[in-house]
Amino acid sequence: MNVKEPAEEAAIQLRTERQRIEPEGEEQSEQPTDLRGLFPEEIAALLTPWGQPTFRGKQIFKWLQNRAVREVAEMTDLPQALRVRLGEAGWLKPLAPERHRVARDGTEKYLWRLADGELIESVLMPYRRAQTRDRVTVCLSTQAGCPLSCRFCATGRQGFRRNLTAAEIVGQVLDITHEKRKDDPDFKVTNLVFMGMGEPFLNYDNVRRAIGLFTHPEGQAIGQRRITVSTAGIVPGIDRFADEDWEVNLALSLHAADDKQRSEWMPVNDRFPLAQVLEACRRYWEKTRRRLSVEYALMAGVNDRLEDARRLASLFKGWPIHLNLIPVNAVAGIGVRRPEREPTERFLAELRRWGVDAVIREERGQDIEAACGQLRGAAKGEEEA
Ligand code: SF4
Repeated sequence: MNVKEPAEEAAIQLRTERQRIEPEGEEQSEQPTDLRGLFPEEIAALLTPWGQPTFRGKQIFKWLQNRAVREVAEMTDLPQALRVRLGEAGWLKPLAPERHRVARDGTEKYLWRLADGELIESVLMPYRRAQTRDRVTVCLSTQAGCPLSCRFCATGRQGFRRNLTAAEIVGQVLDITHEKRKDDPDFKVTNLVFMGMGEPFLNYDNVRRAIGLFTHPEGQAIGQRRITVSTAGIVPGIDRFADEDWEVNLALSLHAADDKQRSEWMPVNDRFPLAQVLEACRRYWEKTRRRLSVEYALMAGVNDRLEDARRLASLFKGWPIHLNLIPVNAVAGIGVRRPEREPTERFLAELRRWGVDAVIREERGQDIEAACGQLRGAAKGEEEA
């Protein structure tokens, strides 16, 4: 078990609070300037030729990343002439809300239209708690569409359009925050999961930059340990992630316990077979000692037999993981059935019998097409009809 002493926990917490993820010199110049994708020092550098003092960088960063304003005109402590010039430059590109749905369980789904017309989705999941403060999680998209074509996924069936910029990734949280603060000025997103449309490790630099912006103390200041990045198994991405000096969590979308079945449902498995992915995940654990989360979508008659559970357990013998068992909901046009409660419970019991720390997680927002890519698919279908 990977249990840390309280002192060690405290030291990590302190390190986490102090630590910031700085820009790593990755190429931003190919992307059109968007102030929401820049760190304070980069905004300051952008405004230096305009004769602006360095502190403007931090001032504007706070308006954007902390107060989540969508208009330069709202930055009331900037000189009027600067506001006009910034407005004319067109460097602030908020996401255009296209659709918004609220489920019975409180889950909210946002469909955004980007500046070039692409559609992406984000999901807001509020969790009310009696004892501790509420958790407000946003599930983020990192690509418009996805090239990995997982068979059970609505996004995968819609093809790949392009990578999102860091500004478009952070924009999802900022624009949700802007909306929610109209009714609740104290609204704050507390947790992030990179599990929406797209494969984060195929857009690594922008995901990394977005995490730096999300965790920046002058911005949303979301704790690194409250962020989880989920991959379908891109091995070089897992290795790079393991080398990062941060406390961000890693999740693996596994969904099958052998190569044949996994390749059938997730073609990325042909490129990075199970053994390679698991080796990379194990390297990650050995290096970071942070427990890997594993997502397993349970599909009736596909991967829900007890022998699947035993094979699954055998993959993680000797190292700690946390496994989320997710009974899938039927997606229109995909021949996937949701398993009944009883076989799901039996599958869980078998995993636990073999020592796997596993829980059943229900998909949220079942009545609003909250699964990845469903709302975009519905909107596209209507546009094309
Ligand atoms: S499940 Fe994730 S990785 Fe697979 S196609 Fe859908 S968005 Fe891409």
